[in-house]
Amino acid sequence: MAHGILIIGGGIAGAATAWHLAQRGARDVTLIEREGDFGAHATSQNAAILRTFTEGDATAALAHETAALLSSPPEGFTQVPLLDQKGLILQLGLAGEQELVRWLDTKPDPDKVISLDAAALRERFPWYSGPTEGAYLVEDEGEIDVAALLEAYLRGAREAGVELRAGTGVTRFLRSATGVEGVVLASGEELRASKIIICAGGWAGQLAEAAGSELRLEARRRHLMVTSTDDTIDPSWPIFWSYPEAFYTRPESGGMLLCACDEEVVEPDACRVEPEVGEQIAEKASRLIEGVMDAGCAHLWAGMRTFTSDDDFLIGPDPDVDGLFWAAALGGHGVSCSAGVGRLAAAHLLDEEPSDKTARALDPRRFRVAQPS
Ligand SMILES: Cc1cc2nc3c(=O)[nH]c(=O)nc-3n(C[C@H](O)[C@H](O)[C@H](O)COP(=O)(O)OP(=O)(O)OC[C@H]3O[C@@H](n4cnc5c(N)ncnc54)[C@H](O)[C@@H]3O)c2cc1C
Repeated sequence: MAHGILIIGGGIAGAATAWHLAQRGARDVTLIEREGDFGAHATSQNAAILRTFTEGDATAALAHETAALLSSPPEGFTQVPLLDQKGLILQLGLAGEQELVRWLDTKPDPDKVISLDAAALRERFPWYSGPTEGAYLVEDEGEIDVAALLEAYLRGAREAGVELRAGTGVTRFLRSATGVEGVVLASGEELRASKIIICAGGWAGQLAEAAGSELRLEARRRHLMVTSTDDTIDPSWPIFWSYPEAFYTRPESGGMLLCACDEEVVEPDACRVEPEVGEQIAEKASRLIEGVMDAGCAHLWAGMRTFTSDDDFLIGPDPDVDGLFWAAALGGHGVSCSAGVGRLAAAHLLDEEPSDKTARALDPRRFRVAQPS
């Protein structure tokens, strides 16, 4: 059976791409997810933080676009609030001023960012006992309901005719002389498609090789811990992120979610919890937040963030393989940027050749290997 567009991966990237294609009236779109449930990997393992303060202007632009959708979703998109604007405190330290100015230039509403001195920081997050220099509260950012967002993308796509298939994975590509023209599923079924987009998170690197792409991606493991319930934690505390300490935290399920920003390159099929990292999280957290570990650890897990060599997203056509497209390497921003990622991926798939500054910065063709003259 022939398909127009095939999406590989049913995490937030694949779901947002499917939704945008559906919104644009694309027909003959199929999304293939290997697991029995959609969003079973990075999409359900992350910290659910909306943070538009990113490393580059292109990702900041996609994050602002997504923030707008989260705070004011389109008619019929969802029945539940997608964003709890509890605020995000960025502690940037003394060296962070230049980055802040660059980012404020991109932010549609810079008045929502206010400087906090030590007293104001501790008033908002009384448990915190670490460094306080260069702290800012971003009032309109906060916690995303990731499950509801994923569901909204998938439901919108399904209702507009996208075929969603879970429980079957792509095992190899059907190759033509210059590109790809289909895939083979684990069941042995062949699906032909004129365009195939890889939205496979931590497995995108494996699929690049299988499709004959020269692009290289790596999966980096990151752990999160949640402490046991403690009645003195106020669930309305803002999210706190310290850049000099490489640490973030927010209230979660009656305890505190803690991250020490570990990043170790892993084979995607071997991404498991490393108990030693749990100890490192506990040690760092205890140094910065007095008494935070008194309740003990309730839950420790690990997920994969995926990167290219320049740490920017890959959105658009493969440099070399005809018919192959990418919405991958979303690092630590895939949920925060999902609406922008899906919109840009759909524009490429619909042959609109977006070439604005954001599209150019994230276009996989920036990695094209120069041909010897
Ligand atoms: C610990 C941690 C904390 C994070 N915190 C945040 C945060 O606070 N805010 C934020 O915005 N981002 C955060 N991120 C990043 C964010 O989670 C990711 O960028 C995003 O989820 C990536 O989505 P994805 O759809 O690309 O990947 P995934 O969610 O991993 O989806 C890829 C899907 O592809 C499927 N797949 C793989 N191979 C195949 C195949 N061969 N055939 C079919 N299907 C296949 C997989 O089963 C999977 O479901 C965090 C990530 C981690 C790990």
